[in-house]
Amino acid sequence: MTLTSTEPDQTTPAETRLPSILDLAEDDLIYEVSKLGQPAFRARQLWRALYHDGAPSFADMTTLSKYLRSDLEKRFTIAPFEPVMELRSSDGSTDKVLFRLPDGELIETVLMRYGLDGHRRARRTVCISTQAGCALGCTFCATGQQGFRRQLGPGEIVAQVLHMRRVIRSENAELVAGGGAKKDEVPEITNVVFMGMGEPLANYGNTMQSISVMNHAQGMNIGARHLTVSTVGLVPEIRKLAREPYQLNLAVSLHAPDDDSRSRTMPINKRYPIARLMHACRDYIELTNRRIFFEYVLLKHENDTPEHARKLAALLDGMMCHVNLIPVNPTENGPYERPEDKRTAVFREILRHAGIANTVRQEKGIDINAGCGQLRARALADAVETSS
Ligand code: SAH
Ligand code: SF4
Repeated sequence: MTLTSTEPDQTTPAETRLPSILDLAEDDLIYEVSKLGQPAFRARQLWRALYHDGAPSFADMTTLSKYLRSDLEKRFTIAPFEPVMELRSSDGSTDKVLFRLPDGELIETVLMRYGLDGHRRARRTVCISTQAGCALGCTFCATGQQGFRRQLGPGEIVAQVLHMRRVIRSENAELVAGGGAKKDEVPEITNVVFMGMGEPLANYGNTMQSISVMNHAQGMNIGARHLTVSTVGLVPEIRKLAREPYQLNLAVSLHAPDDDSRSRTMPINKRYPIARLMHACRDYIELTNRRIFFEYVLLKHENDTPEHARKLAALLDGMMCHVNLIPVNPTENGPYERPEDKRTAVFREILRHAGIANTVRQEKGIDINAGCGQLRARALADAVETSS
């Protein structure tokens, strides 16, 4: 494991903060540029510089006039946060970055490299956060245990992907310069999963705005089919999402096949019990004609028995779906254990036998606390230790 970290320090006072230009939707950006007396094509150049080129500062935007750059500099910043800790797993496949937001909140982002061995379908996936903390309190989740801090703005969501793309671009450039690959052989960011800290559908508007930026053909140009939103199961928002124009992937965190087990680990189940959730999921599939990914964290003796597997198979019978089984990444003080491979195999076999497609999610970056919220938990713990 490699570790880089900067001193944890103070926050920027609210009154001296400039807004991040990454918070502006496309229309607002055009409007801001027009207020500076510039034609619409300048806004398009600015958009491209921000999201296609990923310019880290206005000074780097050489397609824009010096005057416009300096006007923008007086009004906006670009990066809405700074990295305070960067970790790389020992196999080099996974990076985790902890960002400090201007008000001192901490969020984390994970970069996962697949197919490092020159695999034809190499992928670079970023796992991003949509909230600082989370209000939903799932008992196995480090973020849930920390409680809700605040919503992230659209720029704070998008900037996580921009940061990781910069990391990938610089390592790709090194690889190409060293003769290790040709320019068109190295992937940039291929996938984004909304599976970091927070509940994306509880920050619906900002999540959707960030998706429109990531998906924009003149910007980051990441196909909607390569964007996956994961939800704890907010029924009204799942219904709303079904009517959005994007061909997104939806992952639903199910984690239990009956209300008793699910309510024990996921308080949200009391508000939206399984029958209502599954009804919304069935309608989603019918309306979009897209399958749903069901996430199922395996908690030893809690939800991983053959009986649970049989109930899960019955619940999903006939649905266009795929189940992702995730052996739990135990949290520091949590009561849960990861089931042995044999238990997981039995669970899978019952699903397979019932015709339910499933995979065990490939572990990435275990040595750097890859589970949701755990890097933040660790940084906070370290901060407490060093300050006491
Ligand atoms: N709030 C959303 C998205 C963020 S969590 C949701 O709950 O779906 C992303 C995924 O990580 C969810 O499926 C969540 O249940 C899972 N997760 C949380 N804590 C985990 C842990 N300790 N081990 C393994 N997976 C975990
Ligand atoms: Fe929130 Fe998702 Fe963690 Fe549950 S699993 S507490 S919804 S981030």
